[in-house]
Amino acid sequence: MPAEALRPSGQGFVSIVGAGPGPVDLMTLRARDRLQRAEVVMYDRLITPEVLALIPEAAERVYVGKALGYHSVPQTGIHALLVQHARMGRRVVRLKGGDPYVFGRGGEEVQALQAEGIAFEVVPGVTAASACSAAAGIPLTHRDLAASCVFLPGHLADDNATHDWAALAKSGQTRVFYMGLQRLPQIAHQLIAHGLAPDTPAAIVRDGARATQTVMATGLRDLVARALGYGPQPGLLIIGETVQLSPDFHPPAQ
Ligand code: SAH
Repeated sequence: MPAEALRPSGQGFVSIVGAGPGPVDLMTLRARDRLQRAEVVMYDRLITPEVLALIPEAAERVYVGKALGYHSVPQTGIHALLVQHARMGRRVVRLKGGDPYVFGRGGEEVQALQAEGIAFEVVPGVTAASACSAAAGIPLTHRDLAASCVFLPGHLADDNATHDWAALAKSGQTRVFYMGLQRLPQIAHQLIAHGLAPDTPAAIVRDGARATQTVMATGLRDLVARALGYGPQPGLLIIGETVQLSPDFHPPAQ
């Protein structure tokens, strides 16, 4: 249903839009439509300049991303801004990298809008796991190698209670860690301590699906040794047998 049909006259409307992994042609047509008709756009750090270029000149742009772990606007402030702009009767776009409902706090923003009776929609996007999987030649599931895949927040890996490491160490699954590159040593340590083979294929995909993409893929233990230095680009960690199907995979030295 088009957003306009959901928008009672004179009242604002919020579209929570997934922008995908960066390139404009990996956005959905619906996402592009909402962006081109926006009156206010609130966007995050991961949004690329080429996506921002779709925003109309007349629209107000509000940066609410975080830099170096510091939120320029706290989450409750983002909720308040969304409500405030919608109450002014505007078409508001809340633009997020990837998909709004995958580690994007889209759910919290929806709850805040519901609590205030603001009309909204959620427009899905290509999440980093799908984008990196396709661009790096790493199937997320594959007959005989991976019957399931699991998406995890890597930055919580220090906390033992966060993940069921014994379950994650079992074979036959692809583990995708978002926000996990800095915790790669801890993640590898936990998985290996719980029984995962140290040479299990593993990859780091940086700037996935973008012209600047890099892929490093080898055995998990070697990946830990080689993957030093974490830049500002987003990076995804993928661990599982299907990583060996990537053309960038180099088997670990014996
Ligand atoms: N909602 C987003 C994820 C936000 S969390 C989505 O669905 O993709 C931010 C994390 O996503 C980053 O730390 C990184 O792990 C991952 N990420 C986002 N875009 C990426 C890209 N183009 N390449 C690699 N990883 C990416």
